[in-house]
Amino acid sequence: MKFKDIVGQDLLKKELPELMQENRLAHALLFLGKEGTGALPLALAFSQFVVCEKVNQGRAGVPAAASLFGDAPETAPIKLSDSCGVCPACTKAAAYVHPDIHFSYPVVTKKAGSAPLSTDYITEWREFIRSYPYGNVYDWLQFINAENKQGNITASECNEIIRKLNLKSFESEYKILVMWLPEYLGNEGNKLLKLIEEPPPNTLFILVAENESMILQTILSRCQLVKVPWLENAEIENALITRNNTPAPTARQVAGVSEGNYREAMQQVQHADEDWQAMLRDWLNAVMKTGPVAQVKWVDEMSKLGREKQKQFLRYFNHLLEQAVRISALGDHPQGLALLESLGEKDRDFALRLNRLVGIEQQQAIITELDNASYYIERNANSKMLFQALTIKLYHIIQDKIVFLTD
Ligand SMILES: [Zn+2]
Repeated sequence: MKFKDIVGQDLLKKELPELMQENRLAHALLFLGKEGTGALPLALAFSQFVVCEKVNQGRAGVPAAASLFGDAPETAPIKLSDSCGVCPACTKAAAYVHPDIHFSYPVVTKKAGSAPLSTDYITEWREFIRSYPYGNVYDWLQFINAENKQGNITASECNEIIRKLNLKSFESEYKILVMWLPEYLGNEGNKLLKLIEEPPPNTLFILVAENESMILQTILSRCQLVKVPWLENAEIENALITRNNTPAPTARQVAGVSEGNYREAMQQVQHADEDWQAMLRDWLNAVMKTGPVAQVKWVDEMSKLGREKQKQFLRYFNHLLEQAVRISALGDHPQGLALLESLGEKDRDFALRLNRLVGIEQQQAIITELDNASYYIERNANSKMLFQALTIKLYHIIQDKIVFLTD
């Protein structure tokens, strides 16, 4: 993968090559970015950059071409802003088969009785990062059919890492380990401390994490931090149009809801025809007006949708509420009017109706409940019970302000 293949993140795309070419690179880097920001693609592009032959020639100050008039050869290092993509090292790195770029990621036991190792799944891994570089751990575990098993980076995997990184590099100057989600390292991660602290020469650790607080402190403190920020709406919109052939109006609407998360945006596009608003209207009407039978029916339907869609629905509702809160807080302020303008027509009407239905405090209480529900869905809660409970909570939050929501 090249830097140019990555959505947004222009600042990091500029800084990372400089970091290496100006020899300011620590031997352990932590790419820290939430789901959908592209931390993993950046790490993949960076590892390709580090092994690229063109880049390394430039670093050694080798002239790119002989001068026609016999001038003194150019000796200053030639700085590149991306890997060349065509040298043998790039070709291997792009196919994720470069012998000096190793990968570790959470896995589950493949053969009963043997400790799970990342290499057990290397074929699946290559396919996964080729097809879904913006995927999250849930997508990955689904991809390898781990069902509901919890992924792990095990003690045996740590031993394997130590063994691999103590070998001489095969083709490149550097040996690189890309570890995706060090959050899945338990205390066995401490085995790696010595290696991270005093690594063999030309060893580069690239850890890619989403959640700083779940990483062993001892590892965290030994890494140079590379913060990967949320994407801008415009970057997502543009990427959906150019990379995903999403029609412009859909791209715009989805970018607005996806909150800087490109994975989420692609999921939303896939389900853009889901009529979340109709689903939401039915729910609110069942809660406020049509009563228990309609509620049970709605909960049944929702619980059949599956985790991803349930999360999307909650996120959609949450987004609408947040917009509604902002709209009522901003009132006639130009910013409020601009926000109204930026919402699609249907969402705008609905947000305004929500504002008539409930006050800001109630909206905020609902937002908290929706966040909690998403959290539990992610952790495999029984969705029927969860949406039933949520329905009752909604009722209690909004019962004193009844408005019938119509089409
Ligand atoms: Zn190259």
